[in-house]
Amino acid sequence: KNVLLTGGTGFIGSHLVELLLDNGYTVSVLSRSAKKSNSQITYYQWNLKQNFIDEEAVLKADFIIHLAGEGIVEKRWTKRRKKAIIDSRVQPIELIHSVLVKHNKTFDAFISASGIGIYGAKTNHKICTENMPPADDFLGITCQKWENAVDAIGALQIRTVKVRTGIVMGKDEGFMKKMIPTFKSGFGAVMGSGKQYLPWIYIDDLCRIYLKAITDEKLEGPYNACVTDNTTNSRFSKTLANLFGYTIWLPKIPPFFLRLLLGEMSKAILEGQRVSSEKIQQTGFEFQFTDLEKTLINCIK
Ligand code: NDP
Repeated sequence: KNVLLTGGTGFIGSHLVELLLDNGYTVSVLSRSAKKSNSQITYYQWNLKQNFIDEEAVLKADFIIHLAGEGIVEKRWTKRRKKAIIDSRVQPIELIHSVLVKHNKTFDAFISASGIGIYGAKTNHKICTENMPPADDFLGITCQKWENAVDAIGALQIRTVKVRTGIVMGKDEGFMKKMIPTFKSGFGAVMGSGKQYLPWIYIDDLCRIYLKAITDEKLEGPYNACVTDNTTNSRFSKTLANLFGYTIWLPKIPPFFLRLLLGEMSKAILEGQRVSSEKIQQTGFEFQFTDLEKTLINCIK
């Protein structure tokens, strides 16, 4: 069977491509830039600004996994940036939807990334489950628009899965790409009070959730994809600092400084949320990486 990935060139996508190939799927990738296909991956192009998509990519897919989207935390959330974050997630789904309608095409499942940011920044440490309503802050609204677009695909009688992802840990990639060099050079710090929860998932487990969403037809709707443990920002920072040989005391970056530096985005960092992974585990999925220290060792070795 053929799996089409949008954003297949990114951090999660490139790991997922490997897992899919190992499991006998043929893989196609939709990218903004032209890339040379090889014996394993067929690359197709799209241009969201011009509403262009190589329709063949969609027409030959049995599954579509939607990972494309402008980086969320890379730059300050200006009005323009916020629009780009939302459009780059919603427009691709609308474009795929138009191809499906035009050709009366159906396929096995549409699986999309989403974020635990949908629950908003929670200071009361209440554990967030999939049936909680979306928050009305920027990330909450973004995820809601993203997931609503997925629902439009679902309305075509196609099975849809939304993978509400926590912070993805990997070797020198994603979140850890910034953290490892900072902590390695001795500049590790706690953000704000450090008491805010930091829901994480190791990249291999996340890719296995996507694979399960393909193979297990019972999966439908939203699933939180992160470990439910007691990792707070402080625990994360201290564990990582320990692994680089410094312990005892870590400086705290004061909230006002983060607000100054990051603007609205600082809210998401200063007020984490606790997230339940019960629903995905009830499908029979087992996390292989649940221990923070062992996972961080894996990221830095
Ligand atoms: P990356 O930034 O590594 O990759 C995203 C891919 O999206 C890029 O490779 C790029 O592909 C494509 N892309 C980037 N900007 C645009 C744009 N403006 N328009 C269209 N396509 C674009 O992301 P990740 O792999 O880390 O994340 C994948 C998805 O999972 C994202 O939607 C992200 O929000 C979500 N997620 C990730 C988390 C994490 O910790 N990594 C946490 C929670 C959610 P190309 O250049 O080939 O077009």
